[in-house]
Amino acid sequence: METIIKSIYENYKNSVGIGKVADYIPPLAKVSHEKYAISVCTVEGERFNVGDWQEKFSIQSISKVFTLSLLAPLVGPELWECVGKEPSGSPFNSLVQLEYEKGIPRNPFINAGALVVTDKLLEKIPNLDDVLLDYVRGLSGSQDIHFCRDVAASEYATGERNKALAHLMKSFGNFKGKVSTVFRAYCNQCSIEMSTSQLAQAFIFLANKGVNPLNGEQVVSCRDAKRINSLMLTCGFYDESGDFAYRVGLPGKSGVGGGIVAVIPGKLSIAVWSPELNRYGNSCRGISTLADFTTELGISVF
Ligand code: GLU
Repeated sequence: METIIKSIYENYKNSVGIGKVADYIPPLAKVSHEKYAISVCTVEGERFNVGDWQEKFSIQSISKVFTLSLLAPLVGPELWECVGKEPSGSPFNSLVQLEYEKGIPRNPFINAGALVVTDKLLEKIPNLDDVLLDYVRGLSGSQDIHFCRDVAASEYATGERNKALAHLMKSFGNFKGKVSTVFRAYCNQCSIEMSTSQLAQAFIFLANKGVNPLNGEQVVSCRDAKRINSLMLTCGFYDESGDFAYRVGLPGKSGVGGGIVAVIPGKLSIAVWSPELNRYGNSCRGISTLADFTTELGISVF
């Protein structure tokens, strides 16, 4: 394992200048495009790291997996009346499909879907910010995980499109809370900063039938772990989900901070960080790294 991730790292170390660092949330543009890290965590507790793996970055939409996992045990099948389970085939922040489909987002991993999840969470957990941070800290076994106030405030100030998604859903009756309150919580979630090593550890419960191996806690049921992994496989990369599944063959989730986390059920989780994004908002080098990883390891879910 160590040899594989080191050789992939060496191979791509100088592959920069192929994508563009996100700048629509202004503080994200300050991050060096050269950053590159890979971390692997196995269900047996082994860890392998290479590159900038101790440095924290903005997890952005990777947080959508944490919020769905937090909500899953608190709700029944009625959740799926408010948000779908189908790939969107559209950009992560698209409004068009939402209008056609009467305010029901295609899945929980596009922005509209995650806003619905946050709306539902706030109905159940009024102090969501604190609870979510504790949740992520518990999953990763690290207390040193925080919101980035600068990133959250900047997204809150500039996120007109996300506010529009929330207002549109509210006009269809698919949004209970106050848009400003829900959107503030959403921005905080997206602003969580973690290292690849913390992220790989935080996702291992999805490779381990919903159990956090650090403390034996059943985070989500085995059935929900299966379902969340299936949603990541079909919807984790916006309108590039099919290509990611084809090249990598694993459930995973990306964020515009340049992070990607993927899972091999029963075996391991892997997090990669490289901020240059392709036109779909997914990390260019992150996808190539994961494609080589499953090819060289000879294991995916297929
Ligand atoms: N906070 C970002 C947004 O809502 C998340 C997008 C992403 O990471 O893909 O635009």
